[in-house]
Amino acid sequence: MIRILADRDACISAGMCVLTAPEVFDQDDADGRVVVTAPAPATEELQRAAREAVGLCPARALSLDGETART
Ligand code: SF4
Repeated sequence: MIRILADRDACISAGMCVLTAPEVFDQDDADGRVVVTAPAPATEELQRAAREAVGLCPARALSLDGETART
């Protein structure tokens, strides 16, 4: 199981995460910063999308916890 961590102070409201994984991320209506709506995505598909979003975030505001090293 992976867990998604978001550093809202680092988020620059670019929205890449929401575009990439709309089932996992949303943006705050007030300030546009990231809101993780599914911090522990259950399915492979959502986990893949979440990983992609973490890699795409231009502010490096997203990270994964509990990720085992991949070969
Ligand atoms: S991609 Fe990064 S900077 Fe953009 S909204 Fe998501 S967390 Fe914030």
